[in-house]
Amino acid sequence: MIICVEDEQNICELEVYTLQSVGFEAKGCGSGKELFSELENNVPQLILLDIMLPDEDGLSILRRLRSDARYANIPVIMATAKGMEFDKVKGLDAGADDYIAKPFGMLEMVSRVRAVLRRCNNDKSQEQLLTYGELSVNTASHTVVVAGENIVLTLKEYELLKKFLYNPGIVFSRDKLLLEIWGYEFSGETRTVDVHIRTLRQKLGVAGEYIETIRGVGYRLSGK
Ligand code: CA
Repeated sequence: MIICVEDEQNICELEVYTLQSVGFEAKGCGSGKELFSELENNVPQLILLDIMLPDEDGLSILRRLRSDARYANIPVIMATAKGMEFDKVKGLDAGADDYIAKPFGMLEMVSRVRAVLRRCNNDKSQEQLLTYGELSVNTASHTVVVAGENIVLTLKEYELLKKFLYNPGIVFSRDKLLLEIWGYEFSGETRTVDVHIRTLRQKLGVAGEYIETIRGVGYRLSGK
C-alpha cells in the first residue's frame, strides 16, 4: 500500500485515485497525526509526503519516520513547492528517497513511485551476509550489527554502507554516490552525501572509522 500525505483534499484524492487506477493500493492522510495513527495498523510500501501540512510539516514527519526503527526503511518521496531548492536539499538530508516538485502531473508521480519501488526491490534480489571487521550486514533482513549491537540506519545510510561493503577499498566520489544512491544527478549538492556519511559514521561507532575520507576525492571503505 502507498500512503499519500496531503492536506489539500482534492489533490490527495487525485493522488490516491491515480495510484489505484494503475493497480496500487493507496490511502490518503491529511496530516502527520493521521499518518502515524495509520502506521500503527499498516506499514506501507512507500509514503508520498507533502512538505506543507497543518500542525506538523513534512520535514518534521520525515525525521520522525527516520528515527523510528519500525519506519526508518519505508521509502519516502517528498512533494515540495516548485523551485524551493532549500526544501529539496533539506528533504534529501533528512532521508527522503526522492522528491517531486509541485504542481506535478499524475503520470510523473506514478513514474517516480515506480522508480523508487524498483530501486528498493533491486536491493532485495542480492541477499547475502556482508561482513567487514566488526561490521556485518544481513541484506535479507536489512539488519546491521557492529560488535554484536544492532544499529538502526535510514534507507540512504543503509544503501551507502552496502555500496562500500560491496566495493571495499574503492574510492567513490560524492557525485558518483549521489547518482548511484539517490538515483539521479543533483549537481553541486554533494553536501547531502557528507551529511549522510557523517550520521552513518556516528551510528556505526567503532566501525565508523572504516569509512575513510579521501580529501578532495570522496570516500572509501578501508582500515578494518
Ligand atoms: Ca499541502
